[in-house]
Amino acid sequence: MNQDTIAAIATPMGEGGIAVIRVSGDEAVPVCDKIFTGKSKLADVPTHTVNYGYIRDPETGARVEESLVTVMRAPRSFTKEDVVEISCHGGFVSVRKVLDLLLEHGARLAEPGEFTKRAFLNGRIDLSQAEAVIDLIRAKSDRAFRIALKQSEGSLSKTIKGLRHRLVELMAHIEVNIDYPEHDVEEMTNAFIKEKCADALSDIERMLTTAQQGKILREGLVTAIVGRPNVGKSSLLNTLAQEERAIVTDIAGTTRDVVEEYVHVNGIPLKLLDTAGIRETSDLVEQIGVEKSRQALSDADLILFVCNGAEPLQPDEYVLIDQLKDRQVIAIINKQDLPQLIEEEVLKEAFGEDRVVRMSLLAQQGITDLEKAIASIFFSGQVESSDLTYVSNARHIHLLKQARAALMEAHEAAEAFVPIDMIQIDIRNAWEHLGEIIGDSVSESLIDQIFSQFCLGK
Ligand code: GDP
Ligand code: ZN
Repeated sequence: MNQDTIAAIATPMGEGGIAVIRVSGDEAVPVCDKIFTGKSKLADVPTHTVNYGYIRDPETGARVEESLVTVMRAPRSFTKEDVVEISCHGGFVSVRKVLDLLLEHGARLAEPGEFTKRAFLNGRIDLSQAEAVIDLIRAKSDRAFRIALKQSEGSLSKTIKGLRHRLVELMAHIEVNIDYPEHDVEEMTNAFIKEKCADALSDIERMLTTAQQGKILREGLVTAIVGRPNVGKSSLLNTLAQEERAIVTDIAGTTRDVVEEYVHVNGIPLKLLDTAGIRETSDLVEQIGVEKSRQALSDADLILFVCNGAEPLQPDEYVLIDQLKDRQVIAIINKQDLPQLIEEEVLKEAFGEDRVVRMSLLAQQGITDLEKAIASIFFSGQVESSDLTYVSNARHIHLLKQARAALMEAHEAAEAFVPIDMIQIDIRNAWEHLGEIIGDSVSESLIDQIFSQFCLGK
């Protein structure tokens, strides 16, 4: 291997007390030795050791940083190359200074995602795992984080590999048949192909049904809060936002501004649409008529319709109920601490018994019921969530759909007794589409595109 040596700051900028600079490549150790002074030269220390010392500017001899330096020799490192990690506890300025010294003495600044790209190119991880690293960096909720972690450990790859293996066996079976054609064998082969295609199709179908959940986990369940003035919409927003703060703080690598447009309910991220327009004016129907509000409503995966339980339903609320009948709605009857005058039955009839939740946001009651209702919508009709291989990436979904289309062709062709060497082509296509998910047959430019999405230093 003859890779130039790259370096980058691997921890988020300006956060925390410790920053790590990662260096990878053939010259990683000699480059670091130029600027590091410790008990012994890094070239002489055993692999996977942490070494205490100072970073110095070799020109002036001035100490820049006190640091701990970890040496990991190829191939037992993330990139499979020689890797040195320098941890400094200084702030941004001194970290930047250390990086500059490395760049002056033989390292090159890493491109975004270049460390992970090298890990991929050196066979350390496959493509779906590499993409999961992107997801990990961007994960917006703890549930999304766990799923990305699982994927980076290879659960999607494992499923895809199993599927491809079965398709190869099927192709081999067909191949034998092409070489030794006999009529009764052909009969059998068609039935066999149909069965195998159906099996593979149901696996793909299962992966695709989790894809919608995966998308939601990455991007948030798009949610609009609507209701008349003074029913408690702002109170609801604040209540949801409070829960948020507790959960969000322990997610590594997320920045506040990314997370703040999201709230989480039991680990399900809700992307709250800007319904400010809906909140301001007095006439609900007029408000919904406003283009922006209407857009927000039609974009929403979930609508939280807040009512004041202490009042009968108002005419404009009846209009809205009628408009929302076929949508995913949770009706919140707020102000349960006051005497109730609302026609609860109307709401239950329109949205369903279990979609009506009683709350008192003033007394902070009913929050668990709301969480349950949201979770039941998210997991509606779904099996146990913890063991699923989530497909959370748009590229993967697209490829799975292409593989599905090819297999459906094969299935139909087998039914119509199309010559099996024609069917073979469809199966091969499906096998190739699946291969692209794990990077078995991807082009150089796609690889570059995927890895350029990374933050620097990953
Ligand atoms: P919005 O106009 O729909 O955003 O409603 P707000 O959240 O601003 O609440 C309007 C008023 O209702 C405020 O004075 C709240 O304190 C009050 N309020 C909100 N929730 C409750 C509740 O559960 N019980 C009672 N009694 N008052 C509430
Ligand atoms: Zn970053």
